[in-house]
Amino acid sequence: MKTARELLTEYGLTPNKALGQNFLVDEEAIERIVSAAAGPGLPVLEIGPGLGALTAPLAESGLPIAAVELDAAMCGVLSSALPENAAVINADFLKADLGLIHEKLGGGEISVVGNLPYYITSPICMRLLTEGLPIRRMTLMMQKEAADRFTAEPGDKNYGPLTVLAQLLYSIRQELSLSPASYFPQPEVSSCVLVLDRSGFSLPAPLPRLLKSAFAMRRKTLLNNLSAMGMTKTAAAELIEKAGLPPSVRAEALRPEDFVRLSR
Ligand code: SAM
Repeated sequence: MKTARELLTEYGLTPNKALGQNFLVDEEAIERIVSAAAGPGLPVLEIGPGLGALTAPLAESGLPIAAVELDAAMCGVLSSALPENAAVINADFLKADLGLIHEKLGGGEISVVGNLPYYITSPICMRLLTEGLPIRRMTLMMQKEAADRFTAEPGDKNYGPLTVLAQLLYSIRQELSLSPASYFPQPEVSSCVLVLDRSGFSLPAPLPRLLKSAFAMRRKTLLNNLSAMGMTKTAAAELIEKAGLPPSVRAEALRPEDFVRLSR
């Protein structure tokens, strides 16, 4: 397998900073991510394959792979280098038809992997958490600050809707911690790889919307945020009381299971 530098030179390409193109060049990290992603033995959905640092070794497993990449030039390089079990899809992951991609992967459980473009890490993760795809495992590389949102506790500044959804749906562990030297070009910050394994919990349908409203204004009480979403103050107060919560509580103080009670 050629290095990212060699491929960029060969195809006359330069990394596009605006698309978060920091290519992984750390062999040990690549091996560990690929092994985690292929671990469940399920078809794999990859987000942002770039020059194929993860895609090529993953494809060697023989598992079906669908890799969604926004940069058409990268797609050109990748398509010519991959075996038949790996399909490259030139699309914006945030707008791609995930139902269709899921069908292409056989329509059953899948494993998701990605060295995520840093500028859209949160929206990508929210999509993965809320679109109802049967994802057994996610192996996601992201900047350390973004990873902190997954593991935050109530009261932390990073605690929010993403934390609550991720902790309810998955058990989360940090697989790896990486310095800028693991990438070309080098980013300014450290990154880490999280492995999320599905817990079997099903989200109550209103939960994502409830979380969005509850955290809309961090300094406001839950009561005020719920009222701002169109509920009357009396109805919001009743809901909070029924869930056994104090009337002046703020969303950031609630545990994931409190949100489940509220949405039920
Ligand atoms: N997987 C490769 C690696 O590890 O070397 C590249 C990772 S790089 C951090 C992120 C990749 O996501 C880039 O290839 C970039 O072009 C791609 N990307 C950026 N925005 C995207 C989007 N909206 N949808 C799909 N891919 C995107």
